[in-house]
Amino acid sequence: MRDTGQSENSTPISLRTLRFTGQALLRLLLVGAISAAACSDEPPADASAPVKTEPKLTLILEGPVDAEFAPIAGRLTTLYYECYPKLLTRFEHPTRKAPRKIRLTFDPKLDIPAHCSGDRVTVSIKWLKAHPDDIGLLTHELTHAVQAYPDSNPGWLTEGIADYARKQYGPEKQPGWNFPDRLSSRQSYTNSYGVTARFLVWIEEKHPGTVDTLHRHMQDREFRLEDFQTATGKTVDELWEACVEELSQ
Ligand SMILES: [Zn+2]
Repeated sequence: MRDTGQSENSTPISLRTLRFTGQALLRLLLVGAISAAACSDEPPADASAPVKTEPKLTLILEGPVDAEFAPIAGRLTTLYYECYPKLLTRFEHPTRKAPRKIRLTFDPKLDIPAHCSGDRVTVSIKWLKAHPDDIGLLTHELTHAVQAYPDSNPGWLTEGIADYARKQYGPEKQPGWNFPDRLSSRQSYTNSYGVTARFLVWIEEKHPGTVDTLHRHMQDREFRLEDFQTATGKTVDELWEACVEELSQ
């Protein structure tokens, strides 16, 4: 899934001299993150219940890293271990397992912020250096990895659910991210990304479980627009109208 954004015109930075140092640092960051994920001192809520083992996750980092990008790479690594287990718990298909090993590629030439294909998430070094607070794009792309829709149509719903997940699973604060508090009748639920995600947040508040139902139907290639009505008793247009009426005030 390709995610477009504004193009940047900053000069490519030569990373050759810093590459070794950056990769060594990144290795340290990665090991630290894995250790943090593996060590939990929290007791189970019910001591008599069987202890559920977290899925073992791996993150492979690829691409050049310099001193400026290393902290961003570290934050992406931490975010991966925080949000990916939650995405798997909520959105993984019961029989078709999502990848446990994600390849996160840092691309110095990518002219869109990020994209995901299978188990590989590629992010733009240039974009993240210019927008270091936009690491939530990783949550969006990891959602695509878990969605694994056999047919991503309608694209507005695929992207809307990915941004819905970004809103739910973080990071908690995402300054600069385009997630609207308000909606207007000039917009549409098919606007995709943040607008659709805002609509889905509203639906989920009124009719809990709807997003999960729509998502599972997408995974099973069974989605129909009428699913909104089956899940909520209202057509998607009626829902949108009620949502806008409430959120435009
Ligand atoms: Zn996307």
